[in-house]
Amino acid sequence: MLIGGYQPCSLCDYPGHVAAVIFTQGCNFRCPFCHNGALLPAAAPAECLVPVEDILDRLRHRRGQLDAAVVSGGEPTLHADLPDLLARLKTLGFATKLDTNGSQPAMIRALLRDKLLDYLAMDVKAPWATYDAVTGVHAPTEAIRESMALLARSGVPHAFRTTWVPTLLSRDDLAAIRGAIPPGSPYHLQPFRAAAALDPRLRHAV
Ligand code: SF4
Repeated sequence: MLIGGYQPCSLCDYPGHVAAVIFTQGCNFRCPFCHNGALLPAAAPAECLVPVEDILDRLRHRRGQLDAAVVSGGEPTLHADLPDLLARLKTLGFATKLDTNGSQPAMIRALLRDKLLDYLAMDVKAPWATYDAVTGVHAPTEAIRESMALLARSGVPHAFRTTWVPTLLSRDDLAAIRGAIPPGSPYHLQPFRAAAALDPRLRHAV
């Protein structure tokens, strides 16, 4: 697994927990509002990568100060060894949270089956009809729907979320997204960080 970044302590990435955040390298989407552009290529220069063993070693020494680890990205579910990383985090005693774009339901199903996740946060980026424009790729909407259903019936704490960029999503679009959220599942909007947007045309959007 390629790790493109590590945040040693976060109070806001996992509700109710003091967590480290591990950012995996590579994403299959190109959302124009993405604020993690450096994490999108599947590969990165060696000096930009953080060895997994170094992270686990640091976490091993921070037990008692942190109680959770968030695996974010990039898109973590693209990595075949994600289950191994999560299992090792749980063995160290950390609660685990996954941030995902929902494009890999087979991986999500396997993680849920093996009880490797304590919390999932999944982006629902747009109404189905405009998903491609908002993600910058030909988006696998059927796979995303499948992932939504998996989360909704998992029994594992989870949330769906949308980054609201007013120039990309109208209020009608937001209503359509809300209508697609499984009943009973938490849903919230998350802030758009314009200054770091992947598409420079959005960097001054409000
Ligand atoms: S916002 Fe998330 S899914 Fe979209 S390109 Fe960035 S990392 Fe990938």
